[in-house]
Amino acid sequence: MRIIMMGPPGVGKGTEAVILVKHFNIPHISTGNIFRELFHDDTEIGKIAKSYIDRGELVPDDITNEIVHQRLSKDDVKDGFLFDGYPRNIAQAEALDKMLEEKNWTLDAVINFQATDELIIERISGRRVCKKCGAVYHIHNKPPKTEGVCDQCGGQLIQRDDDKQETVLRRLRIYYDQTEPVIGYYKDSGLIVNIDGSQTIEKTNADIMKVLGEMN
Ligand SMILES: [Zn+2]
Repeated sequence: MRIIMMGPPGVGKGTEAVILVKHFNIPHISTGNIFRELFHDDTEIGKIAKSYIDRGELVPDDITNEIVHQRLSKDDVKDGFLFDGYPRNIAQAEALDKMLEEKNWTLDAVINFQATDELIIERISGRRVCKKCGAVYHIHNKPPKTEGVCDQCGGQLIQRDDDKQETVLRRLRIYYDQTEPVIGYYKDSGLIVNIDGSQTIEKTNADIMKVLGEMN
């Protein structure tokens, strides 16, 4: 099974990805994870990628594509993979097509998670994280017993910079500018599966499994 997960930040695709890779026993390939592995391995391309990330800049497409290319040459992707966060724009989608062509592989599905901006902003900006133990709460969906205090360790709950409303809005704008056109890129392939990301984790997963079952 070769799957691409698409959708705005906070739509729940990371959570669903974890369930799917377990079910299909395929590697979960997120470029964030590969970058971290590369820093750890101390490779040349890893150092280049890290220099961008350390400056708070996006890793250029050619470097990201090369890293994905190397990742696809590993043994564990022979029976499939799930991409999460890649391709991030049309140039990356075109590069991925070339890589798959080289291997005579085709994609099985492009899962497109959908939710309104209001829901995404509410979900992300309501998130609170324990400074001490990292436990995650939500001011409406999973509030702590005492406001601002971790149930598990008594630590202080904070809002991460990444979760602040202005950051979420900026991430959404980048998504609509650069990543949403990738959906259009795959439109004629018949691979797009639209999934309602506003539902519970279980219901969303049930919808995905149903559609994937019908496709194969
Ligand atoms: Zn805590």
